[in-house]
Amino acid sequence: MKLRAHHLLCLPNFIGEGYSDAFTANMAAQKRRLAAEGGFTLAEGADDICAACPHRRDADCASQDKVLRYDAAVRRLLGLRPGESYGAAALQERVYAEIFEKHRLGEICGDCEWYPLCARLTGERKEGSDT
Ligand code: SF4
Repeated sequence: MKLRAHHLLCLPNFIGEGYSDAFTANMAAQKRRLAAEGGFTLAEGADDICAACPHRRDADCASQDKVLRYDAAVRRLLGLRPGESYGAAALQERVYAEIFEKHRLGEICGDCEWYPLCARLTGERKEGSDT
């Protein structure tokens, strides 16, 4: 399966919410698929999660500048390269150790509409906090 870099942050924080019913159904399916297949190939643009997203625009995203910035930040922090294959479990450990536990979500994707949810789930921000 194909995943773009910033979706490595979205997947562990997915709790059944999303842009549409089709999107959330596909997100849940791709999360199960990643667990079953145990790995993925890093996509540079749209991936298997984008496939059912109402914001997808062919190979791009309606928020293209923003999501490319998120992808680049995750690739840089984790040293990932498009086209390479990665094991899901090992990479997920690095996401927790190097991003969630260091509270770096805000610097990567603080302007995403889902950031408040992900920040709460990872302990980066307390419930009810505005900062
Ligand atoms: S918002 Fe953009 S990057 Fe995110 S899943 Fe939809 S198309 Fe992909």
